[in-house]
Amino acid sequence: MQTELYDVIIVGGGPAGSSAALYTSRAALRTLVIDKDPHAGALGMAHSIANYPGVPDALTGMQLLELMKRQAVSFGALYLRDKVTGIDPEGPEKTVFTVSGKFYRAKSLILATGAMGKSSEIPGEKKLVGLGVSYCATCDAAFYKGRVVAVYGKNREAVEEALVLCRFASKVMLLCPGGKLAVREDEAELLNKAENVEIRYHSKVLSVNGERGVESLTLEGVADPLPVEGFFIYLSGSSPVLDFIGGLLEISGCGCLKVDREFATSAPGVFAAGDMLCKEIKQAVIVAAEGCHAALYAGRFLRGTLKPKSDYN
Ligand SMILES: Cc1cc2nc3c(=O)[nH]c(=O)nc-3n(C[C@H](O)[C@H](O)[C@H](O)COP(=O)(O)OP(=O)(O)OC[C@H]3O[C@@H](n4cnc5c(N)ncnc54)[C@H](O)[C@@H]3O)c2cc1C
Repeated sequence: MQTELYDVIIVGGGPAGSSAALYTSRAALRTLVIDKDPHAGALGMAHSIANYPGVPDALTGMQLLELMKRQAVSFGALYLRDKVTGIDPEGPEKTVFTVSGKFYRAKSLILATGAMGKSSEIPGEKKLVGLGVSYCATCDAAFYKGRVVAVYGKNREAVEEALVLCRFASKVMLLCPGGKLAVREDEAELLNKAENVEIRYHSKVLSVNGERGVESLTLEGVADPLPVEGFFIYLSGSSPVLDFIGGLLEISGCGCLKVDREFATSAPGVFAAGDMLCKEIKQAVIVAAEGCHAALYAGRFLRGTLKPKSDYN
């Protein structure tokens, strides 16, 4: 059975994929976006987005995604709800396979499946996401002005985010699961200089408690719950969603998809954008810009004007 041949298939309809779809469809490229579930993406889970340029009134991540999708659809992009299970990225016609048993063909692909969170969950965490549990101080610190919050983790991200929070919160407790922070001494020293940061080593959070918002944390070996209004978790970070790639594209040593300066992967005509790529800072505006880049370079590829491969990053 021969299926329709799209100019571009975009895998993932988060901010990276939808921004790419906006640009490819606006360029009159036949665009299909395949997304398994917008609620399952990072932006779809975000309770309140107040830092997306041009959107002054805070929206939920889902509302922002819906606006992005509406704009792309208005230029002709088609959205399909299905989970991509595999790709064939070789040759002039690429194939995308889905869990429903169907397959789709395109002259180019843009992959934008994001990164998924850690698998282990603290009791109470899921119920209170967006109600005091957060994974992004850069996004949410301003909501905690004058409040007591806890940061849980020992990595660089936890330290960075504690330093962001201490400019807003009245007190930041950095709960370190081990006896040492996994950062350089000079980075740890910055925390010591911040008057409202207290580091508690060997802290294991057993549960996050509260009904309509975070009220306290239960710590191992501590009788009384620790009262906090915000709980920022940085335990093991998130890993790029690459399972459907099946080793067919080059992956970096850090486990993210490799692209060059044109957002091109190791297979000609296959581009990628968003949190599935290596990055230190994960923000919607950054991945939307990457989606734009990937779309414009995919357009050049389709016109035959893409420059020869540049270095990967
Ligand atoms: C709780 C939380 C709050 C945040 N708050 C903010 C904020 O306030 N401001 C900000 O700028 N950033 C915020 N971020 C970061 C921002 O949401 C991410 O950087 C951004 O969403 C990444 O975009 P993406 O398109 O790469 O991936 P995602 O947003 O994760 O989208 C990926 C999409 O791909 C789909 N997908 C995955 N696998 C498949 C597959 N096999 N087949 C088909 N579809 C698939 C997913 O369902 C999803 O819809 C927040 C993140 C989190 C987790």
